[in-house]
Amino acid sequence: MPDYSGVNVLQGSPYPQLVDKLGNFNLVTIETPQIHSLNANLPTPPGERLWTAALEQTRSRSPASFEQWFSSVQYDGFESGVLSLTARDEFVRDWVKAHFLPDLLSHLARLAGEANPASLRVKWNISNGLDRPVCQPRRRNSEPPASIPPSSSLTSGRSRSERPSRYSRAQLTAALNPKHTFPNFVVGPSNELAHAAAFASAGGGGPRYNPLFIAGGTGLGKTHLMHAIAHKVLDERPDSRIVYVSAEHFTNEFIEALQHHKMDEFRARYRTDCDLLLVDDIQFLAGREQTQEEFFHTFNALHDADRPIIVTSDKYPQQLQRMPERLVSRFTSGLVADIQTPQLETRVAIVRKKAELEGIELSDEVAVMLAQSVQSNVRELEGALIRLAAKSSLTGRLIDEEFTRGELAMVSPRRPELMSVEDIQRAVCGHFRLSNSDLLSKDRHKSVAFARQVAMYLCRQRLKCSFPELGRAFGNRDHTTVMSAVRRVEALRQRDPQVNAHLEAIEQRLASSEG
Ligand code: ADP
Ligand code: MG
Repeated sequence: MPDYSGVNVLQGSPYPQLVDKLGNFNLVTIETPQIHSLNANLPTPPGERLWTAALEQTRSRSPASFEQWFSSVQYDGFESGVLSLTARDEFVRDWVKAHFLPDLLSHLARLAGEANPASLRVKWNISNGLDRPVCQPRRRNSEPPASIPPSSSLTSGRSRSERPSRYSRAQLTAALNPKHTFPNFVVGPSNELAHAAAFASAGGGGPRYNPLFIAGGTGLGKTHLMHAIAHKVLDERPDSRIVYVSAEHFTNEFIEALQHHKMDEFRARYRTDCDLLLVDDIQFLAGREQTQEEFFHTFNALHDADRPIIVTSDKYPQQLQRMPERLVSRFTSGLVADIQTPQLETRVAIVRKKAELEGIELSDEVAVMLAQSVQSNVRELEGALIRLAAKSSLTGRLIDEEFTRGELAMVSPRRPELMSVEDIQRAVCGHFRLSNSDLLSKDRHKSVAFARQVAMYLCRQRLKCSFPELGRAFGNRDHTTVMSAVRRVEALRQRDPQVNAHLEAIEQRLASSEG
């Protein structure tokens, strides 16, 4: 009998906001693998499409560590709400369960149109020999992935056989999404500077800035551009030694090198044996002083040798917190190119491009409809398209306007004008696990007061209610109380990431109408 023991997969999860939803996943181990080939030239089964889309979203959070762990995991199928996976050993299974599954399953549930990710099951199989690992392994299979060297670099000027065995072109290409190329990147006013600068860095012509700092919100194409640069350089100058890492990976590798007295090797990899350095999500270095110091010297060594450095970040350099001034000034010494949320026309073009790449037939009307309804970021837009396509192939329905409208209505965020003070209060209570009467009471206990202030802030921000109006809606409080609550939360949100995380989690609740 399979063991259906509930496992709290959220310990140590970087997504505290998923606790409510994901606390009760049932993770089971069953020793019967099912095989579906990810690479077969057959039409992709719908479950596999969903899996691939969910996987991409999870991968983009931390590509380097994703690569490490998913080289020891195999996808066996996703059918009737059951995801079948094989892990190389229990250690890998447990790590992936704890660190990747919450995120992965929530994407998968959303893409599959499941309101509740807890309704998905994971069937684990353990096997030492994986035929088709999700990512290509980087080292001998018997070693735990934590010690696998991170994504790769190339060694030029020597023949393949003379190269140190640690690195190979195959390792780098395994870390790159083959679809994230320049031809697949849609250029519009929101990203044209970043695109042109990235293209120039890859030797595509135009002025080359060093460093190039690409700043932009999540899901707007920063990683796509990094991969595109690497692909282009690899295609045109296969001997180039390219190092592509996330800042998180750089940090981990640095710590490991320190621990194992391998700093010479580390420095060779990043300074002397590197013709092009791509570091994704540099904001991760915030507050990590020793790594910042090391990165600073790496940066200088490459910069002095006129080797291109490209860095991405979710903030402008000046907004990076707990980052030393000298590093910020290095970041701004070349070109800072930002990516903004794309306008409607660009979003329509992106939908068309993605549909073309995935072989999904889409009318112009449907492309526009999708682009109109998903505005926040491209990753979401892509998710909506994949979900539509999967649903259409599952149900055999054509992706026409009516079908699309129905599907979008189910997943679209609720329009703020249709939301009420009660909806927000309910969402806040749900998030903080309070009753509505607690929220409206005179209770001054810290946690209740904070929840109340958050609710007031959200009402003010989203519904534009007047302060006196809000005072009445919150147990007849004075308008000055509301005013100071709103200001307090506004200020806290700016400087306290935890407060921001709470707000984002509640906003997510509101968006999915679960409040
Ligand atoms: P970021 O690194 O900024 O969070 P990604 O580069 O991972 O975002 O992009 C998220 C998804 O959106 C990827 O699948 C990427 O291909 C797609 N995407 C973003 N911008 C564009 C664009 N301009 N054209 C085509 N696809 C895009
Ligand atoms: Mg990214």
